Formats: sequence, C-alpha cells, structure tokens
Amino acid sequence: MTKHRMYDLIGIGIGPFNLGLAALIEEQPTLTSIFFDKEEGFNWHPGMLIEQSDLQVPFIADLVTFADPTNKYSFLNYVHKQNRLFQFFFYRRFDIPRREYNLYAKWVSANLMNCQFQSEVVAVSYKGDMYEVRVRETATKKVSTYFAKHIVVGTGSVPFIPDNIEKSEHVVHTSNYLHAAKDIKASSSIIVVGSGQSAAEVFYELLEDQKHHKYSLTWYTRSPIFSQLESAKLGQEVFSPDYVHYFHGLSYEKRKEALERLDSVRNGVDKETLMKIYDLLYNRSVEGRDKKITIQPLTEMNSVKVENNCLSVSCKQWEKEKKFTVQAEKVVLATGYKPHIPEWIWSNKDDIVWESEKEFKVDEKFRLVWKEERQNQMYISTNLEHSHGTAATNLSLAVMRNQTIINDVAGREVYPIQKDTIFQQLMPDA
Ligand SMILES: Cc1cc2nc3c(=O)[nH]c(=O)nc-3n(C[C@H](O)[C@H](O)[C@H](O)COP(=O)(O)OP(=O)(O)OC[C@H]3O[C@@H](n4cnc5c(N)ncnc54)[C@H](O)[C@@H]3O)c2cc1C
Repeated sequence: MTKHRMYDLIGIGIGPFNLGLAALIEEQPTLTSIFFDKEEGFNWHPGMLIEQSDLQVPFIADLVTFADPTNKYSFLNYVHKQNRLFQFFFYRRFDIPRREYNLYAKWVSANLMNCQFQSEVVAVSYKGDMYEVRVRETATKKVSTYFAKHIVVGTGSVPFIPDNIEKSEHVVHTSNYLHAAKDIKASSSIIVVGSGQSAAEVFYELLEDQKHHKYSLTWYTRSPIFSQLESAKLGQEVFSPDYVHYFHGLSYEKRKEALERLDSVRNGVDKETLMKIYDLLYNRSVEGRDKKITIQPLTEMNSVKVENNCLSVSCKQWEKEKKFTVQAEKVVLATGYKPHIPEWIWSNKDDIVWESEKEFKVDEKFRLVWKEERQNQMYISTNLEHSHGTAATNLSLAVMRNQTIINDVAGREVYPIQKDTIFQQLMPDA
C-alpha cells in the first residue's frame, strides 16, 4: 500500500461538476488538489451522445467562464485551439452539440494535472482533523491511501429503473441507448417509456431511422401531455445565484412546495425536439397514417416480464383505468436518474443531519451538515435539489458552486460570486 501526502482538497468523481472545480482550483498555486474517477477517462453520458442533440444550456455555461472568462479552459479557447473558431462564429448559435461539449471536457481533463482516472474511491473516513481516502486502481486493484483537509463528493447520478421491471438484455435504459441502438433497431417492435428530454431524443432518433428498418415504434408516458420545457427568459432566472440563495433560505417544507411549482422548468422536452418530432410525423403522414407508430400519454407501465424471448409489458391508461398488456421485442426506459450517494456516506448516516429520510442537510456553501461541527468539510454536488433548488443539476450553476467551494477552502474570496444577477426581485424592498 502506497502512502501519499496531504491535499487541501480531494475530489471524488470527475463528471462536469468536479472537472470544472479541478480546472478552477488548478489555477490556485497555494491550494493542492487531486480528483479521482473510476472510469477510463472523461466521458459525458456516452450512451446519450445522439447526433444532432444539443447541450441544453448556452456554451457560456462551460466549465470555467462564469468564474473567470479569461481562464484557458473556456469553451471558446477550446474551439480556438481546434481551429474551429470561424466555423463556430458562422454557426451563430449558443447551443452546441452535446458531442462537442463532451470533446471539450475531455480536452480539459487531458490537460489537467490534478485528474486521475481508473481510480475508484472505495472508502472515506474522518480522522478528526483530516479525511483518509482509499483509492483502488481499477486495472491492478491496488489500493492507495490519500489524505485531505476537505473532500468534495461529485459522484453524480445513476440510472433509475423502476421496480417490477424484469432484468433482461432486451430492456435498455436510455443511459445505455447508443451502445444498444444497433440491436434495438434490428428488432420488430420497440416501446419507449417516459416523457422527458431523453425519451423524446430517443423516440426521435428511432422515428427518423425507422425508414431503414422494420420495427414498430411506441411511445408511452404517464404524463397527461407531452409538455414543453419552460424556456421564457424571465422564467430562466431561477437558474441564477440569486434564486439559489433565495431558495436555500426557505424552510424545508417551502422548498419542497416550490420545487413542485417549478415543475415546468424542471420537467419536459425542449421546444426544438418536440417540433422536430411533430414535423417528421407530419411529413411521414402525407401518404396516410403510419400504423407502426403509436404515441400514447396517460399511460403508466406497471411491469415488464420476459416471456418466450419477448417482453410482456403491462400498462394502465390511468385516467380511464384501463389495463392492457402489449408484447415488444425491446423496451427503452427513459425513466431518469437518481443521485449516486456512495456507501461510505450511508455508513456515516447517524452523524449527519437529515432533512428527510434520503435528503441530507447541506448548508449554503454546499457543505454537508454534521451533528458535531467539523473544521474539515465534505462538500457535496449531488442530491442537492431539496436544498439548492432546480438549478442543482444544471451545468451553468455548477461553476458558481465550484467558486463557492474554492473560496471556502481558501478562506478568502478567490473567485467573487456575482450578485444582483437577475432583473426580478424575489422579496419586496425593505
Ligand atoms: C443524458 C443527460 C443529459 C444532460 N444534459 C444536460 C444539459 O444539457 N445541461 C445541463 O445543465 N444539465 C444536463 N444534464 C444534467 C447534469 O448536468 C449532468 O447529469 C452532469 O453530468 C452532472 O455532472 P456530475 O459531475 O454531477 O456527475 P456525472 O456526470 O454523473 O459524473 C459522476 C462521475 O463520478 C464517478 N464516480 C462515481 N462514484 C465514484 C467513486 N466511488 N470513485 C471514483 N469515481 C466515481 C463516475 O464514474 C462519474 O464519472 C444532463 C444529464 C443527463 C443524464
């Protein structure tokens, strides 16, 4: 077992959230840091890097720009280094392809000295004045021990698969869609379940490619309508530091109520994807309705069972309370994700302050709240919706979070947080 020196900050997971943190902290010569990820290298939701799908935030929400537009890891610098700045200029768009965002982030991670892949954090324990972090190399299984004054947990999310779905190679979560797409398209019948952005993107991709294949295509969702994600500019101001500050100051009950009321900015499909789907359906229908396409809202999927190498899918049209069962060769689950909270956090359960059974208390500076106050912080960037609102999983606000964490670790304002960032006011003038 190798022993390493002490770091100011150890990051666990290198998704976009911690990658941005690694890029910003690297600029600070007085702060030492190292970030670990169990994967081979950076790869952002590879199963959903569908061609023509765009990042759902403007490119300015890259890994560093909101903290420091002059940082060398900005998206604009990446495009410049790729000799694509003119094409990007003529492209005249703020929303970039998701595949390009992934390549940009890969470029950042490859240039950072403080990111170490193929390294799974298997245990974290608090030693009273520091954290001990045990890291297993995925190739050799060798375990090394590292120490840090503070740690930041950026372990992201994992696919959510509802109960009553029998495990089968024929049932694919959207997180794995592209890896399984060839196999899915070779089948005779496909059901897509869900109504969010991922469901719509997968449905559109399958709809477009249907002309080259023989499959029937069905889209079920429990939602009463296929609704559009609210994108009005004033409404978007909930994704601002000011709103996060306001939201965090509410009581737990008020925050939960507010989240429900903010459903239109949290759930739904972007306008462009919905328009592309409708236009394609319209074009296909000029010579008559295609019987091989079914789109049905108000429908919940209750179970999926494997029978004779086929899937038996039991559903209910809940408004009319009509149960029915359909057969399909493939089911694509667009059932979303849930926060990935590592086991070693659960094992400290009794020392943490909880707001509900699964929602830990996190202070405004993204520090997990312990029953006994600690000098050494455990910062968290996952499972934050209940404490920091709908912007918790948004890439643009991730930079503000990272600025806050660095300022707190440094004990001074390294990256000033912008204030008065929106045109609305959330409280009357005193
Ligand atoms: C398909 C999809 C598209 C999205 N598109 C957008 C968008 O356009 N705009 C937007 O604002 N938001 C988007 N989001 C939401 C959010 O921005 C992303 O989920 C983002 O990836 C979250 O980043 P993260 O760093 O928290 O986690 P992740 O990207 O999930 O990364 C977590 C990392 O932690 C690693 N890890 C976990 N446990 C360990 C361990 N024990 N040891 C070492 N490593 C570990 C994993 O290997 C992984 O690499 C999207 C989400 C999804 C699922």
